[in-house]
Amino acid sequence: MMGDRTLNELVGQYFRQQQEVFGNVFYTEKEKSTDSTINVLFQEEKIPEKEKEQRKIVISDEPTDLFTDEPEWKKTKSLDALYEKIHNCQNCPLGATRKNFVFGTGNPQADIMLIGEAPGADEDEQGKPFVGRAGQLLTKIIESIGLSRDDVFICNILKCRPPDNRSPFPSEIDECEPYLIKQIELIQPKFILALGLTAIDTLLKKKNKMGEIRGTVQNYHGIKMVVTYHPAALLRNPGWKKNVWDDVRLLRRLYDEYLNSKLKI
Ligand code: SF4
Repeated sequence: MMGDRTLNELVGQYFRQQQEVFGNVFYTEKEKSTDSTINVLFQEEKIPEKEKEQRKIVISDEPTDLFTDEPEWKKTKSLDALYEKIHNCQNCPLGATRKNFVFGTGNPQADIMLIGEAPGADEDEQGKPFVGRAGQLLTKIIESIGLSRDDVFICNILKCRPPDNRSPFPSEIDECEPYLIKQIELIQPKFILALGLTAIDTLLKKKNKMGEIRGTVQNYHGIKMVVTYHPAALLRNPGWKKNVWDDVRLLRRLYDEYLNSKLKI
């Protein structure tokens, strides 16, 4: 693989040098001159015009795949196309233990994305995010601010379930987060609701304390981000319900302001 890349780079460098010297026309060798200093070029006066035309290769100014290492999934233009390219991913060990890849569900043009940590057992079984008990609670939370699951897009930092619902390893997050970033790029949400500290810390690239970050509006690359507890944590600690209610009302308030500003345009 490495050898191919090096060869490609050398070939690319050669063509670019040729292009700098000769413009967008490349002449191939017909017969070698006895003069070794010009033996790679045609002696143009000897070539009939018609043949010269046939031998000409126009080199495009556009970069070609030959000289780039960008994976196919990065070039996709829709969520469906992205799914097709990544749903067999084996980039980390979780690919071998999952039952189903959990891409995410909802509106591909959603204004709001909800991002959790990783699939659990029910999600792994069904291939959909937030479908177990925590997912049912999340559905109620979404409905409490006048939205439905079809209005938003729901996904996780990891697309495959960590065994025994353990927390994701940093190496797994490093491998999988680029898929989430591509999803965000394709959906272009106006708001993100990050669910739980794993999602919050991953997106903000720093350790946070829920007690300190809750109630603030964070900036995720120009997208307004509100944070709250993961619904699974809320099931274990029902006393946090009031906090979650406050957090999602903050999100709803920001969303209403956005909708009103669109009406005024
Ligand atoms: S968790 Fe992400 S990186 Fe790991 S195998 Fe699944 S899709 Fe690939």
